[in-house]
Amino acid sequence: MTQQTKEISKLRTWDAENVLHPWENTASVHDDTRTFVESGDGIYVTTQTGAKLIDGPGGMWCSQIGHGRAEMGKAMAEQATRLGYYSPFNNSNATAARLAQELAARTPGDLNTVLFTTGGSTAVDSAIRFVQFRNNVLGRPQKKKIISRQKAYHGSTYLAASLSGKERDKGWMDQASDLVHFLPDVNPFRRPDGMSVADFLAEKVNDLDAAIIELGADNVAAFIAEPILASGGVIVPPEGYHRACLDVCRKHDVLYISDEVVTGFGRLGHWFASEKVFGIVPDIITSAKGMTSGYVPMGACIIADHLVADTVAAGKDATFSNGFTYSGHPVSAAAALMNIEIFERDNLLAHVQSVTPQFQARLQSLRELPLVVDARGMGLVGCIECRAEPKDTDALTADYDVGGRIDAHCQDLGLLVRPIINMCVVSPPLIITPKQIDEMFDILAEGIRRTTADLEREGLFSAA
Ligand code: PLP
Repeated sequence: MTQQTKEISKLRTWDAENVLHPWENTASVHDDTRTFVESGDGIYVTTQTGAKLIDGPGGMWCSQIGHGRAEMGKAMAEQATRLGYYSPFNNSNATAARLAQELAARTPGDLNTVLFTTGGSTAVDSAIRFVQFRNNVLGRPQKKKIISRQKAYHGSTYLAASLSGKERDKGWMDQASDLVHFLPDVNPFRRPDGMSVADFLAEKVNDLDAAIIELGADNVAAFIAEPILASGGVIVPPEGYHRACLDVCRKHDVLYISDEVVTGFGRLGHWFASEKVFGIVPDIITSAKGMTSGYVPMGACIIADHLVADTVAAGKDATFSNGFTYSGHPVSAAAALMNIEIFERDNLLAHVQSVTPQFQARLQSLRELPLVVDARGMGLVGCIECRAEPKDTDALTADYDVGGRIDAHCQDLGLLVRPIINMCVVSPPLIITPKQIDEMFDILAEGIRRTTADLEREGLFSAA
Protein backbone atom coordinates (compact mmCIF):
# COMPACT_ATOMS: atom_id res chain seq x y z
CA MET A 1 0.00 0.00 0.00
CA THR A 2 1.45 3.40 -0.96
CA GLN A 3 1.47 6.27 1.54
CA GLN A 4 -1.31 7.98 -0.43
CA THR A 5 -3.53 4.87 -0.51
CA LYS A 6 -3.00 4.44 3.23
CA GLU A 7 -4.03 8.05 3.85
CA ILE A 8 -7.18 7.67 1.72
CA SER A 9 -8.11 4.47 3.47
CA LYS A 10 -7.70 6.14 6.89
CA LEU A 11 -9.94 9.04 5.84
CA ARG A 12 -12.54 6.65 4.51
CA THR A 13 -12.60 4.88 7.85
CA TRP A 14 -13.08 8.16 9.73
CA ASP A 15 -15.82 9.20 7.34
CA ALA A 16 -17.59 5.86 7.67
CA GLU A 17 -17.26 5.68 11.46
CA ASN A 18 -17.76 9.30 12.47
CA VAL A 19 -19.93 11.06 9.91
CA LEU A 20 -23.69 10.66 9.60
CA HIS A 21 -24.35 11.93 6.09
CA PRO A 22 -27.56 13.60 4.90
CA TRP A 23 -30.17 11.05 3.81
CA GLU A 24 -28.06 8.23 5.27
CA ASN A 25 -29.71 4.84 4.95
CA THR A 26 -29.34 2.33 7.77
CA ALA A 27 -27.99 -0.17 5.22
CA SER A 28 -25.10 2.12 4.32
CA VAL A 29 -24.44 3.91 7.59
CA HIS A 30 -20.84 2.72 7.66
CA ASP A 31 -20.39 2.84 3.91
CA ASP A 32 -16.80 3.68 3.04
CA THR A 33 -17.12 3.91 -0.73
CA ARG A 34 -18.17 7.53 -1.16
CA THR A 35 -16.37 9.67 -3.68
CA PHE A 36 -14.32 12.31 -1.81
CA VAL A 37 -14.23 15.56 -3.74
CA GLU A 38 -11.06 17.42 -2.83
CA SER A 39 -10.72 20.44 -5.08
CA GLY A 40 -12.51 22.34 -7.80
CA ASP A 41 -11.75 24.62 -10.69
CA GLY A 42 -14.48 26.19 -12.85
CA ILE A 43 -16.99 23.50 -13.81
CA TYR A 44 -14.64 20.70 -12.75
CA VAL A 45 -13.99 18.98 -9.45
CA THR A 46 -11.14 16.62 -8.64
CA THR A 47 -11.60 13.58 -6.45
CA GLN A 48 -9.17 12.25 -3.90
CA THR A 49 -7.96 9.65 -6.37
CA GLY A 50 -7.14 12.38 -8.88
CA ALA A 51 -10.11 11.94 -11.23
CA LYS A 52 -11.21 15.23 -12.82
CA LEU A 53 -14.98 15.30 -13.30
CA ILE A 54 -17.48 17.80 -14.69
CA ASP A 55 -19.64 18.95 -11.79
CA GLY A 56 -22.99 18.06 -13.39
CA PRO A 57 -25.17 18.87 -10.35
CA GLY A 58 -23.27 22.11 -9.65
CA GLY A 59 -22.63 20.88 -6.10
CA MET A 60 -26.31 20.77 -5.09
CA TRP A 61 -27.72 23.24 -7.66
CA CYS A 62 -25.61 25.94 -6.05
CA SER A 63 -22.14 26.32 -7.60
CA GLN A 64 -23.23 29.13 -9.93
CA ILE A 65 -19.92 30.95 -10.49
CA GLY A 66 -17.93 27.72 -10.49
CA HIS A 67 -15.25 26.39 -8.19
CA GLY A 68 -11.95 27.81 -7.04
CA ARG A 69 -12.62 31.53 -7.45
CA ALA A 70 -9.72 33.28 -5.72
CA GLU A 71 -11.77 36.49 -5.43
CA MET A 72 -14.31 34.70 -3.26
CA GLY A 73 -11.59 33.43 -0.96
CA LYS A 74 -10.08 36.90 -0.77
CA ALA A 75 -13.40 38.64 -0.03
CA MET A 76 -14.15 36.18 2.75
CA ALA A 77 -10.63 36.37 4.21
CA GLU A 78 -10.73 40.18 4.25
CA GLN A 79 -14.08 40.18 6.01
CA ALA A 80 -13.02 37.49 8.48
CA THR A 81 -9.90 39.47 9.32
CA ARG A 82 -11.84 42.72 9.80
CA LEU A 83 -14.84 41.18 11.59
CA GLY A 84 -15.39 37.42 11.67
CA TYR A 85 -18.61 37.58 13.62
CA TYR A 86 -20.82 39.65 15.83
CA SER A 87 -24.33 39.08 17.12
CA PRO A 88 -27.15 40.21 14.79
CA PHE A 89 -29.69 40.24 17.64
CA ASN A 90 -29.08 43.68 19.13
CA ASN A 91 -26.49 44.91 16.65
CA SER A 92 -25.92 44.90 12.94
CA ASN A 93 -23.03 44.75 10.50
CA ALA A 94 -22.36 46.85 7.43
CA THR A 95 -21.75 43.93 5.06
CA ALA A 96 -25.13 42.33 5.80
CA ALA A 97 -26.89 45.71 5.50
CA ARG A 98 -25.27 46.26 2.11
CA LEU A 99 -26.31 42.78 0.97
CA ALA A 100 -29.91 43.26 2.14
CA GLN A 101 -30.12 46.35 -0.03
CA GLU A 102 -28.60 44.52 -3.03
CA LEU A 103 -31.13 41.70 -2.63
CA ALA A 104 -34.07 44.09 -2.28
CA ALA A 105 -32.98 45.80 -5.51
CA ARG A 106 -33.25 42.46 -7.34
CA THR A 107 -36.54 41.11 -5.99
CA PRO A 108 -39.89 41.88 -7.62
CA GLY A 109 -42.58 44.21 -6.25
CA ASP A 110 -42.16 45.45 -2.70
CA LEU A 111 -40.26 42.40 -1.48
CA ASN A 112 -37.64 44.44 0.34
CA THR A 113 -37.56 43.09 3.88
CA VAL A 114 -34.79 40.54 4.24
CA LEU A 115 -34.56 38.06 7.06
CA PHE A 116 -31.17 36.37 6.77
CA THR A 117 -30.96 32.67 7.53
CA THR A 118 -28.37 29.92 7.53
CA GLY A 119 -29.66 28.13 4.41
CA GLY A 120 -32.77 27.14 2.47
CA SER A 121 -34.55 25.11 5.17
CA THR A 122 -34.24 27.91 7.70
CA ALA A 123 -35.43 30.42 5.08
CA VAL A 124 -38.57 28.33 4.53
CA ASP A 125 -38.98 27.84 8.27
CA SER A 126 -38.73 31.58 8.80
CA ALA A 127 -41.25 32.30 6.04
CA ILE A 128 -43.82 30.03 7.68
CA ARG A 129 -43.08 31.41 11.14
CA PHE A 130 -43.51 34.96 9.85
CA VAL A 131 -46.85 34.06 8.24
CA GLN A 132 -48.03 32.49 11.51
CA PHE A 133 -46.76 35.44 13.53
CA ARG A 134 -48.54 37.92 11.27
CA ASN A 135 -51.84 36.08 11.50
CA ASN A 136 -51.55 35.96 15.29
CA VAL A 137 -50.85 39.69 15.37
CA LEU A 138 -53.74 40.41 12.99
CA GLY A 139 -56.08 38.55 15.34
CA ARG A 140 -56.77 35.49 13.20
CA PRO A 141 -54.87 32.71 14.98
CA GLN A 142 -56.88 29.98 13.22
CA LYS A 143 -55.53 30.97 9.77
CA LYS A 144 -52.53 28.63 9.88
CA LYS A 145 -52.75 25.80 7.34
CA ILE A 146 -50.12 25.69 4.66
CA ILE A 147 -50.80 24.19 1.25
CA SER A 148 -47.91 22.41 -0.43
CA ARG A 149 -47.62 19.88 -3.24
CA GLN A 150 -46.66 16.26 -3.75
CA LYS A 151 -43.01 15.93 -4.85
CA ALA A 152 -42.14 19.34 -3.35
CA TYR A 153 -38.90 19.72 -1.44
CA HIS A 154 -38.56 22.62 0.97
CA GLY A 155 -35.82 21.43 3.30
CA SER A 156 -34.98 19.29 6.24
CA THR A 157 -35.75 21.16 9.45
CA TYR A 158 -38.88 19.76 11.10
CA LEU A 159 -41.10 22.48 9.66
CA ALA A 160 -39.56 22.60 6.17
CA ALA A 161 -39.58 18.80 6.01
CA SER A 162 -43.26 18.81 6.99
CA LEU A 163 -43.94 20.90 3.86
CA SER A 164 -42.04 18.51 1.63
CA GLY A 165 -44.09 16.09 -0.39
CA LYS A 166 -41.60 13.46 -1.48
CA GLU A 167 -43.15 10.21 -0.31
CA ARG A 168 -39.82 8.40 -0.06
CA ASP A 169 -38.64 10.91 2.54
CA LYS A 170 -41.63 10.45 4.79
CA GLY A 171 -41.58 6.73 5.54
CA TRP A 172 -39.47 6.78 8.68
CA MET A 173 -39.72 10.39 9.76
CA ASP A 174 -42.27 12.39 11.75
CA GLN A 175 -43.91 15.51 10.36
CA ALA A 176 -46.20 18.28 11.56
CA SER A 177 -48.93 16.71 9.41
CA ASP A 178 -51.85 18.70 10.83
CA LEU A 179 -50.33 21.89 9.57
CA VAL A 180 -49.97 20.93 5.92
CA HIS A 181 -52.28 19.97 3.07
CA PHE A 182 -50.70 18.45 -0.06
CA LEU A 183 -51.97 18.95 -3.60
CA PRO A 184 -51.51 16.20 -6.21
CA ASP A 185 -48.52 15.99 -8.56
CA VAL A 186 -48.35 18.83 -11.10
CA ASN A 187 -46.10 16.97 -13.55
CA PRO A 188 -47.71 17.13 -17.02
CA PHE A 189 -45.78 13.95 -17.92
CA ARG A 190 -47.92 12.10 -15.37
CA ARG A 191 -51.28 13.39 -16.67
CA PRO A 192 -53.86 10.73 -17.56
CA ASP A 193 -53.73 9.31 -21.12
CA GLY A 194 -55.75 11.45 -23.49
CA MET A 195 -55.85 14.53 -21.25
CA SER A 196 -54.62 17.75 -22.87
CA VAL A 197 -52.04 19.91 -21.11
CA ALA A 198 -54.63 22.72 -20.99
CA ASP A 199 -57.11 20.47 -19.19
CA PHE A 200 -54.37 19.26 -16.87
CA LEU A 201 -53.48 22.86 -16.04
CA ALA A 202 -57.12 23.67 -15.27
CA GLU A 203 -57.32 20.59 -13.03
CA LYS A 204 -54.15 21.54 -11.11
CA VAL A 205 -55.31 25.09 -10.51
CA ASN A 206 -58.68 23.79 -9.43
CA ASP A 207 -56.92 21.42 -6.98
CA LEU A 208 -55.65 24.51 -5.15
CA ASP A 209 -58.97 26.36 -5.27
CA ALA A 210 -60.90 23.28 -4.09
CA ALA A 211 -58.42 22.61 -1.26
CA ILE A 212 -58.74 26.17 0.07
CA ILE A 213 -62.53 25.96 -0.09
CA GLU A 214 -62.54 22.57 1.61
CA LEU A 215 -60.16 23.62 4.39
CA GLY A 216 -61.88 27.00 4.68
CA ALA A 217 -60.08 30.14 3.51
CA ASP A 218 -60.16 31.38 7.11
CA ASN A 219 -57.95 28.45 8.06
CA VAL A 220 -55.43 28.66 5.22
CA ALA A 221 -52.44 30.94 5.69
CA ALA A 222 -50.26 30.28 2.65
CA PHE A 223 -49.49 28.28 -0.44
CA ILE A 224 -45.80 27.40 -0.88
CA ALA A 225 -44.40 26.43 -4.26
CA GLU A 226 -41.05 25.97 -5.96
CA PRO A 227 -41.35 27.53 -9.44
CA ILE A 228 -39.86 24.27 -10.70
CA LEU A 229 -40.01 21.34 -8.30
CA ALA A 230 -36.29 20.65 -8.24
CA SER A 231 -35.45 17.66 -6.01
CA GLY A 232 -38.83 16.13 -6.86
CA GLY A 233 -37.43 15.52 -10.36
CA VAL A 234 -37.23 18.92 -12.09
CA ILE A 235 -40.99 19.10 -12.56
CA VAL A 236 -41.99 22.05 -14.72
CA PRO A 237 -45.70 22.77 -14.21
CA PRO A 238 -47.76 23.67 -17.30
CA GLU A 239 -47.33 27.22 -18.55
CA GLY A 240 -49.56 29.68 -16.74
CA TYR A 241 -49.79 27.53 -13.60
CA HIS A 242 -48.14 29.95 -11.18
CA ARG A 243 -50.03 32.97 -12.48
CA ALA A 244 -53.35 31.14 -12.09
CA CYS A 245 -52.41 29.84 -8.62
CA LEU A 246 -51.51 33.36 -7.50
CA ASP A 247 -54.96 34.54 -8.64
CA VAL A 248 -56.57 31.76 -6.60
CA CYS A 249 -54.50 32.77 -3.55
CA ARG A 250 -55.46 36.43 -3.94
CA LYS A 251 -59.14 35.49 -4.25
CA HIS A 252 -59.00 33.70 -0.89
CA ASP A 253 -56.58 36.02 0.95
CA VAL A 254 -53.95 33.28 1.07
CA LEU A 255 -50.28 34.26 0.87
CA TYR A 256 -48.05 32.92 -1.90
CA ILE A 257 -44.53 31.84 -0.89
CA SER A 258 -42.22 31.23 -3.83
CA ASP A 259 -39.37 28.94 -2.83
CA GLU A 260 -36.56 30.09 -5.11
CA VAL A 261 -33.76 28.27 -3.29
CA VAL A 262 -32.91 26.52 -6.57
CA THR A 263 -34.44 28.77 -9.25
CA GLY A 264 -32.94 32.01 -7.89
CA PHE A 265 -29.52 33.41 -8.65
CA GLY A 266 -29.33 32.76 -12.33
CA ARG A 267 -30.38 29.12 -12.69
CA LEU A 268 -33.20 30.24 -15.02
CA GLY A 269 -31.30 33.26 -16.38
CA HIS A 270 -32.55 35.87 -13.87
CA TRP A 271 -31.81 36.92 -10.30
CA PHE A 272 -35.23 35.54 -9.36
CA ALA A 273 -37.55 33.60 -11.64
CA SER A 274 -40.93 34.36 -10.05
CA GLU A 275 -41.66 37.55 -11.97
CA LYS A 276 -39.20 37.38 -14.87
CA VAL A 277 -39.99 33.80 -15.94
CA PHE A 278 -43.38 33.03 -14.41
CA GLY A 279 -45.01 36.48 -14.30
CA ILE A 280 -45.85 36.52 -10.60
CA VAL A 281 -45.00 38.80 -7.71
CA PRO A 282 -45.32 36.52 -4.70
CA ASP A 283 -45.65 37.65 -1.08
CA ILE A 284 -42.46 36.01 0.12
CA ILE A 285 -39.42 34.61 -1.69
CA THR A 286 -37.01 32.18 -0.08
CA SER A 287 -33.45 32.04 -1.35
CA ALA A 288 -30.17 30.25 -0.48
CA LYS A 289 -27.68 28.07 -2.41
CA GLY A 290 -26.72 30.27 -5.41
CA MET A 291 -26.73 33.38 -3.16
CA THR A 292 -23.15 32.54 -2.22
CA SER A 293 -22.58 30.05 -5.05
CA GLY A 294 -22.25 27.51 -2.25
CA TYR A 295 -18.97 28.92 -0.94
CA VAL A 296 -20.46 29.45 2.54
CA PRO A 297 -23.88 28.78 4.05
CA MET A 298 -26.46 31.54 3.81
CA GLY A 299 -30.14 31.96 3.01
CA ALA A 300 -32.79 34.63 3.06
CA CYS A 301 -36.51 34.95 3.52
CA ILE A 302 -37.54 38.07 1.63
CA ILE A 303 -40.88 39.49 2.67
CA ALA A 304 -43.17 42.04 0.95
CA ASP A 305 -43.05 45.35 2.80
CA HIS A 306 -46.83 45.64 3.00
CA LEU A 307 -47.00 42.42 5.04
CA VAL A 308 -44.56 43.87 7.53
CA ALA A 309 -46.37 47.21 7.49
CA ASP A 310 -49.81 45.84 8.37
CA THR A 311 -48.25 43.68 11.10
CA VAL A 312 -46.60 46.77 12.57
CA ALA A 313 -49.76 48.85 12.10
CA ALA A 314 -51.71 46.42 14.29
CA GLY A 315 -49.83 48.09 17.16
CA LYS A 316 -49.49 44.98 19.30
CA ASP A 317 -45.96 45.27 20.75
CA ALA A 318 -45.40 41.74 19.39
CA THR A 319 -41.96 40.14 19.12
CA PHE A 320 -41.14 37.98 16.09
CA SER A 321 -39.03 35.49 18.05
CA ASN A 322 -37.26 33.94 15.10
CA GLY A 323 -33.69 34.27 13.85
CA PHE A 324 -30.31 32.69 14.13
CA THR A 325 -26.91 33.26 15.69
CA TYR A 326 -25.58 33.41 12.15
CA SER A 327 -28.33 35.56 10.57
CA GLY A 328 -26.52 38.01 8.29
CA HIS A 329 -23.13 36.44 9.06
CA PRO A 330 -20.57 38.98 7.85
CA VAL A 331 -18.33 36.43 6.12
CA SER A 332 -21.29 34.87 4.29
CA ALA A 333 -22.56 38.34 3.40
CA ALA A 334 -19.13 39.27 2.01
CA ALA A 335 -19.21 36.11 -0.11
CA ALA A 336 -22.73 36.92 -1.33
CA LEU A 337 -21.70 40.46 -2.30
CA MET A 338 -18.66 39.19 -4.20
CA ASN A 339 -20.90 36.59 -5.86
CA ILE A 340 -23.19 39.37 -7.10
CA GLU A 341 -20.17 41.36 -8.28
CA ILE A 342 -18.88 38.38 -10.29
CA PHE A 343 -22.36 37.72 -11.77
CA GLU A 344 -22.49 41.32 -12.99
CA ARG A 345 -18.91 41.65 -14.15
CA ASP A 346 -19.08 38.36 -16.10
CA ASN A 347 -22.61 39.01 -17.43
CA LEU A 348 -23.63 35.64 -16.07
CA LEU A 349 -27.39 36.12 -16.42
CA ALA A 350 -27.02 37.02 -20.12
CA HIS A 351 -24.68 34.05 -20.54
CA VAL A 352 -27.26 31.65 -19.07
CA GLN A 353 -29.93 33.09 -21.37
CA SER A 354 -27.68 32.65 -24.39
CA VAL A 355 -26.60 29.02 -23.73
CA THR A 356 -30.01 27.82 -22.50
CA PRO A 357 -31.37 26.90 -25.98
CA GLN A 358 -28.33 24.69 -26.66
CA PHE A 359 -28.52 23.12 -23.18
CA GLN A 360 -32.22 22.36 -23.50
CA ALA A 361 -31.87 21.07 -27.08
CA ARG A 362 -29.13 18.66 -26.02
CA LEU A 363 -31.29 17.56 -23.08
CA GLN A 364 -34.28 16.92 -25.35
CA SER A 365 -32.15 14.94 -27.79
CA LEU A 366 -31.63 12.31 -25.04
CA ARG A 367 -35.24 11.26 -25.64
CA GLU A 368 -33.91 9.36 -28.66
CA LEU A 369 -32.33 6.84 -26.30
CA PRO A 370 -34.75 3.97 -25.65
CA LEU A 371 -34.18 3.99 -21.87
CA VAL A 372 -35.26 7.63 -21.59
CA VAL A 373 -39.00 8.17 -21.21
CA ASP A 374 -38.98 11.89 -20.45
CA ALA A 375 -36.57 14.83 -20.59
CA ARG A 376 -37.53 18.11 -18.97
CA GLY A 377 -35.98 21.28 -17.71
CA MET A 378 -35.63 25.02 -18.01
CA GLY A 379 -32.66 27.38 -17.98
CA LEU A 380 -29.57 25.45 -16.90
CA VAL A 381 -31.36 22.65 -15.14
CA GLY A 382 -32.42 19.41 -16.72
CA CYS A 383 -33.61 15.94 -15.81
CA ILE A 384 -34.03 12.70 -17.67
CA GLU A 385 -36.41 10.07 -16.45
CA CYS A 386 -35.73 6.42 -17.32
CA ARG A 387 -37.70 3.24 -17.30
CA ALA A 388 -36.49 -0.30 -16.93
CA GLU A 389 -38.66 -2.92 -18.62
CA PRO A 390 -40.18 -5.50 -18.42
CA LYS A 391 -42.07 -4.63 -15.27
CA ASP A 392 -41.42 -7.42 -12.81
CA THR A 393 -40.08 -7.20 -9.29
CA ASP A 394 -36.44 -7.17 -10.41
CA ALA A 395 -37.18 -4.46 -12.93
CA LEU A 396 -38.73 -2.37 -10.20
CA THR A 397 -35.50 -2.60 -8.22
CA ALA A 398 -33.60 -1.68 -11.38
CA ASP A 399 -35.94 1.30 -11.81
CA TYR A 400 -34.87 2.48 -8.40
CA ASP A 401 -31.18 2.31 -9.07
CA VAL A 402 -31.04 3.19 -12.75
CA GLY A 403 -30.07 6.78 -11.86
CA GLY A 404 -27.21 5.48 -9.71
CA ARG A 405 -26.06 3.15 -12.49
CA ILE A 406 -25.95 6.01 -14.98
CA ASP A 407 -24.05 8.16 -12.48
CA ALA A 408 -21.47 5.40 -11.98
CA HIS A 409 -20.86 5.06 -15.72
CA CYS A 410 -20.73 8.84 -16.12
CA GLN A 411 -18.15 9.10 -13.33
CA ASP A 412 -15.96 6.61 -15.22
CA LEU A 413 -16.31 8.87 -18.25
CA GLY A 414 -15.60 12.16 -16.43
CA LEU A 415 -18.98 13.48 -15.26
CA LEU A 416 -20.84 13.58 -11.95
CA VAL A 417 -24.63 13.62 -12.25
CA ARG A 418 -27.26 13.68 -9.53
CA PRO A 419 -29.17 10.42 -9.47
CA ILE A 420 -32.74 10.49 -8.07
CA ILE A 421 -34.32 7.01 -8.23
CA ASN A 422 -34.88 6.46 -11.99
CA MET A 423 -33.87 10.02 -12.88
CA CYS A 424 -30.65 11.93 -13.42
CA VAL A 425 -30.35 15.65 -12.89
CA VAL A 426 -27.84 18.12 -14.27
CA SER A 427 -27.58 21.75 -13.10
CA PRO A 428 -23.96 22.66 -13.82
CA PRO A 429 -22.13 25.82 -12.82
CA LEU A 430 -23.63 28.71 -14.80
CA ILE A 431 -20.25 29.55 -16.32
CA ILE A 432 -20.40 26.40 -18.47
CA THR A 433 -19.38 27.11 -22.08
CA PRO A 434 -21.16 25.80 -25.21
CA LYS A 435 -18.27 23.35 -25.79
CA GLN A 436 -18.51 22.08 -22.22
CA ILE A 437 -22.30 21.67 -22.55
CA ASP A 438 -21.69 19.38 -25.53
CA GLU A 439 -19.00 17.50 -23.60
CA MET A 440 -21.37 17.03 -20.63
CA PHE A 441 -24.29 15.74 -22.71
CA ASP A 442 -22.03 13.50 -24.83
CA ILE A 443 -20.87 11.79 -21.64
CA LEU A 444 -24.39 11.59 -20.22
CA ALA A 445 -25.64 9.98 -23.44
CA GLU A 446 -22.81 7.43 -23.34
CA GLY A 447 -23.50 6.75 -19.62
CA ILE A 448 -27.15 6.04 -20.50
CA ARG A 449 -26.11 3.79 -23.42
CA ARG A 450 -23.79 1.77 -21.17
CA THR A 451 -26.49 1.46 -18.51
CA THR A 452 -28.96 0.32 -21.17
CA ALA A 453 -26.50 -2.38 -22.30
CA ASP A 454 -26.06 -3.55 -18.68
CA LEU A 455 -29.81 -3.73 -18.11
CA GLU A 456 -30.30 -5.62 -21.38
CA ARG A 457 -27.57 -8.06 -20.43
CA GLU A 458 -29.30 -8.63 -17.10
CA GLY A 459 -32.67 -9.14 -18.82
CA LEU A 460 -34.16 -6.05 -17.14
CA PHE A 461 -34.70 -3.98 -20.24
CA SER A 462 -35.33 -4.51 -23.89
CA ALA A 463 -34.79 -1.70 -26.37
CA ALA A 464 -36.71 -3.59 -29.06
N1 PLP B 1 -35.98 24.67 -0.85
C1 PLP B 1 -35.64 24.06 -1.99
C2 PLP B 1 -36.46 24.33 -3.21
C3 PLP B 1 -34.53 23.22 -2.05
O1 PLP B 1 -34.22 22.58 -3.18
C4 PLP B 1 -33.77 23.02 -0.87
C5 PLP B 1 -32.58 22.16 -0.90
O2 PLP B 1 -32.29 21.46 -1.83
C6 PLP B 1 -34.16 23.67 0.31
C7 PLP B 1 -35.26 24.49 0.29
C8 PLP B 1 -33.38 23.47 1.57
O3 PLP B 1 -32.18 24.14 1.51
P1 PLP B 1 -30.98 23.78 2.53
O4 PLP B 1 -30.54 22.40 2.19
O5 PLP B 1 -29.97 24.85 2.25
O6 PLP B 1 -31.51 23.88 3.91
